[in-house]
Amino acid sequence: MKTIEITDNIYSDIVGHCRREWPKEACGALFGETVNETTMRITGSLALANVARDPHHHFQIDPREWISLLSRIGALDIHRTDDSSGNRTDHPKLAGIYHSHPETPGVPSSEDLDTAWRQLPCFLIVSLQNPYDPSIRAFGFDLSPLKFNEYEIIKL
Ligand SMILES: [Zn+2]
Repeated sequence: MKTIEITDNIYSDIVGHCRREWPKEACGALFGETVNETTMRITGSLALANVARDPHHHFQIDPREWISLLSRIGALDIHRTDDSSGNRTDHPKLAGIYHSHPETPGVPSSEDLDTAWRQLPCFLIVSLQNPYDPSIRAFGFDLSPLKFNEYEIIKL
């Protein structure tokens, strides 16, 4: 993947959430769909609680909220089957997560490189280093050898 498409509304929701939580780190889930081989469109976001002990410098998604999210999108339904017309039930698809860097640039930290969240397709970082000009950058990871690739973000 090379490009992430995101609407103004979702972009503003994410930045707004990160601003409200500042100077703590904020985190949330991203939903999306594949447009083609190189492009993913973000179709929604969901703010999640940061339960890290030191939320000013770390984020830890509340596992209860994460499980409840997985349940809501049908990921925990082991009996899920295609409906009678052969269409998949219309749950949003998990595309990745976002979190904020309240004081630092929007590039993955060594801790970010070390989390399991990097295995999701889209890893979005909001930097509030310049509070008047928040930036969003999106990354994907190659796992072996470990490296991150930056995606181009196209606002719709
Ligand atoms: Zn980070």
